[in-house]
Amino acid sequence: MKVLVINCGSSSLKYQLIDSTTEDVLAKGLCERIGIDNSSVTHQKAGGGKKKTLLPMADHTDAVKVVIDKLTDPQEGVIASLQEIDAVGHRIVHGGEKFKGSVVIDDEVIETITACNDLAPLHNPANLIGIRACQKVMPGVPMAAVFDTAFHQTMPKKAYLYGLPLSYYEKYKVRRYGFHGTSHDFVSGRAAQILGKDRKDLRIIVCHLGNGASVSAVQYGESVDTSMGLTPLEGLVMGTRSGDLDPAIVGFIAEKEGLDAAGVVDVCNKKSGVLGLSGGLSSDFRDLAEAAEGGNEAAKTALEAYAYRVGKYIGAYAAAMNGVDVIAFTAGVGENNAEVRQLIGQYIGFLGTNINPEQNKIRGEEVILSDEGAKVVTMVVPTNEELAIARETVRLVAK
Ligand code: AMP
Repeated sequence: MKVLVINCGSSSLKYQLIDSTTEDVLAKGLCERIGIDNSSVTHQKAGGGKKKTLLPMADHTDAVKVVIDKLTDPQEGVIASLQEIDAVGHRIVHGGEKFKGSVVIDDEVIETITACNDLAPLHNPANLIGIRACQKVMPGVPMAAVFDTAFHQTMPKKAYLYGLPLSYYEKYKVRRYGFHGTSHDFVSGRAAQILGKDRKDLRIIVCHLGNGASVSAVQYGESVDTSMGLTPLEGLVMGTRSGDLDPAIVGFIAEKEGLDAAGVVDVCNKKSGVLGLSGGLSSDFRDLAEAAEGGNEAAKTALEAYAYRVGKYIGAYAAAMNGVDVIAFTAGVGENNAEVRQLIGQYIGFLGTNINPEQNKIRGEEVILSDEGAKVVTMVVPTNEELAIARETVRLVAK
């Protein structure tokens, strides 16, 4: 089957066309500035270079048409016609408590996703626009919704409830949901596979360390805790997000800086994390490493604070599962940044990780970092959320 995987933002649309038999990416790309001036598409066919073209896209329906044009283009394309697309898989950020797994999209599903908009006002409406645009351009093609939150729906109450009045949960569904679920699921599954074991026999801590970052405790195949919460702001220090805070800071800074609560939360989302800690230098770990090497103290502290928080969460989740068998690093930083992994390694050696410094230098590929016989196997498992979405789509649609 050929599956088109769509990840829609408010003004962007990322896509990949995947052959589900070979699991090869046939083509991929990104439409940007949809509904704004200077909209563009960057398209790449397997084995070819990236090509950026400026094209007017008034809305996401235009963007989906552009994607189809690119995929069927005689030069840049990889299929003869739209009819070759067997199914579409949509990444949906928030499924609330309603979706505990992926589903085939129908009118009822669309209605239920819409009911979750309140919980992810920046993401879900954009995801829904993507679904509707595909329905218009590709009527009759089966579609699946794959949720960032679904994998974490197995968390027990003690992990997902906040220490707040219960009525907030009952009335507003204020609770921990967790995100990056597709990645935590994929990576924990692949880690077990690499080790030749069944995930149901392992306690795995997955560290998804990218610009957005989260840790999860996957106990015998199920997520039992994760660091992101009601929104993706909680937990680790991230690229631009603060992660855990004393909630009293919101009121305190609001008063000092003349902001309202939403204004402070905006700062916590966009101007904090390693960007904020480095005095506004950068949210990119490559820039920070270079600056730290050049003697920039704030950049050094930012990297240390990032690694320290990851180390603390690993310790917490080892306790949550009463032990840990595997720690897996993934995403941009987790896969590629040996320096950050080495900093994190300083806090978790007591668990028996035995990280080999030479192995730890390897970047961007599946690798076991621990020496043989280590009590806790530490490894790098590159994530592939698009492939996971394509697999889920095939599983549902091929029924
Ligand atoms: P993601 O959100 O998963 O795409 O991760 C983005 C982050 O990964 C950025 O902060 C990058 O600096 C970091 N990253 C990506 N590639 C490398 C690399 N080769 N070395 C160090 N950091 C990297």
